[in-house]
Amino acid sequence: MSCHVSPRSTMNCVITIDGPTASGKGSIAKAIAAHMDYFYLDTGLLYRAMGYLTSQDYSREEIYLAVFWTPELVERYKARLTYSYGDGRATIFVDGVDVTMQLRTPEVDWSSSHVSSVPLVRMGLRALQRELGGRHNIVIDGRDCGTVLFPQAQHKFFITADFNMRVCRAQADKLRQAQGMSQEEIAAAVLMRDMRDLTRPISPLRPAEDAVILDTTRLSLEACVTLVLSYLL
Ligand code: C5P
Repeated sequence: MSCHVSPRSTMNCVITIDGPTASGKGSIAKAIAAHMDYFYLDTGLLYRAMGYLTSQDYSREEIYLAVFWTPELVERYKARLTYSYGDGRATIFVDGVDVTMQLRTPEVDWSSSHVSSVPLVRMGLRALQRELGGRHNIVIDGRDCGTVLFPQAQHKFFITADFNMRVCRAQADKLRQAQGMSQEEIAAAVLMRDMRDLTRPISPLRPAEDAVILDTTRLSLEACVTLVLSYLL
């Protein structure tokens, strides 16, 4: 498997996979990382962890208004987080405790979507993501990996799917089912998160100019992975 990096290069190979909520980018990124034996960095999980910590300390109204953020608070939260990847699984620890399963709730969907629009949070996580990603050959997924985090990445993909399909995929998520959300509630939440991702002034969701754009609406996960791998060979 090649990544078009010169054998003499000391640069690691970086593959970015961006896209909107429930487009399938996370599943594709994980499968590609496993196939290539690369480190996988799920940047959304770090925003989720920041949203989780914020929800513990502040009310919804305060999170919405976002006036409490300081560089010190961002650093304090970051110091409590550890990201690890092993056996095909990304894990987040807060103060040494695995909270990964608690980051997939509607409350954290909401809070992470809000805190990810705060410039201080983005700047803080950007540094952390570059530090985590810079040490390995990586597959990294999120919203701004190819545009902002690693604009020099060797391979960039932007994964899309039509809105109804993304809502169906979000609804098929076992955790969402366990939370008993209706299809209408899931559709409204996906729409609001899309709006915030697309319209925020800092690092809005958009494809990098040199990204390969893949519409996964009618493709199985296996077909998407085969397609992505065909660009990497
Ligand atoms: O990808 P995931 O849904 O887990 O991300 C959680 C939230 O973090 C998203 O709603 C998105 O707004 C934000 N995010 C971001 N930039 C990234 C990754 C995620 O703004 N690179």
